[in-house]
Amino acid sequence: MNNRPSKIAHPGSLVALLGRPVAHSLSPLMHNTAFRAQDVSHVYVAFEVAPQALGEAVAGLRALGLAGANVTVPHKEAVVEHLDALTERAEAVGAVNTLFWKKNGALTGDNTDAAGFLAPLEPRSDRLRGRNALIFGAGGAARAATYALLTSGFALRRLTLAARTPSRAERLAADLAPFDEKGALAVVPEGEAGEAVRSAHLLVNATPLGMEPDPEGTPWSDASDFSGGQLAYDLVYAPRETRFLHEAERQGATPIGGLEMLVGQAAASYRRWTGRDMPTGAVRQALREHRRA
Ligand code: NAP
Repeated sequence: MNNRPSKIAHPGSLVALLGRPVAHSLSPLMHNTAFRAQDVSHVYVAFEVAPQALGEAVAGLRALGLAGANVTVPHKEAVVEHLDALTERAEAVGAVNTLFWKKNGALTGDNTDAAGFLAPLEPRSDRLRGRNALIFGAGGAARAATYALLTSGFALRRLTLAARTPSRAERLAADLAPFDEKGALAVVPEGEAGEAVRSAHLLVNATPLGMEPDPEGTPWSDASDFSGGQLAYDLVYAPRETRFLHEAERQGATPIGGLEMLVGQAAASYRRWTGRDMPTGAVRQALREHRRA
């Protein structure tokens, strides 16, 4: 019998993605690239899980001792009831995209979309402090972005939610009111957002408008409302350059594509599972090669 201590820093294990559909997810590519680059012997595998099988999938994950998991559409809210604990941000956002084990053995749900959303904004915080921001949409991504901005330290003066369904935005604003210390949150119907668009230093598209296969879509069709000094942040990442980003950039705004958030949320999940910083350079390179292939 071999009693020597193992030389393997990270025992090999599986990390799963639970969602439906998952066939086009970029998460296996990002995480397996990072695991290989850092000699971490985990493997990331995407599993197509039907809503009625979600509880069994989480029980299986526990029984097999998986290293962790991501959870995506349509399970981000439904998974909560199968977990032992939530992080504060997952609880605030009301959705989970990452499962990890706490030291006490509790299977815990986190929301790393909020951290991923902030990743490309933090280096530009000087352009945002005390300024106005506007988010198009009031769904899951808008929820994570709103929580992230309210807790970011940017101390926004005004954070406007412009939504096709204002009642959904009102609900979002009410749920996140405990984090709105400055009373910055406001809701406008999407058709009445002109003034808020023109006065925002940060515009965020948190709707699917502009996403393939409909690249002509845009959350705001009057491009003359965009201007230099604005950050235009599209959470859509396919195509990379959306109509919204293209039109805002033509008016002098700084474009930020959705891949930044995608890599940012993956990096925050990776840190939960491995305790390491994701090698994002290698991950971006893999994403570029994947796009060219
Ligand atoms: P969601 O929960 O379904 O919410 C979508 C939001 O967009 C809702 O407010 C919806 O309004 C609105 N919307 C949809 N179609 C619209 C239209 N034709 N006109 C006006 N508003 C419309 O979706 P989500 O999870 O928040 O995702 C939103 C986008 O963010 C997707 O493109 C997704 O790929 C992207 N995303 C990117 C990342 C990343 O890492 N880059 C992460 C998460 C999400 P109603 O309430 O009226 O339906």
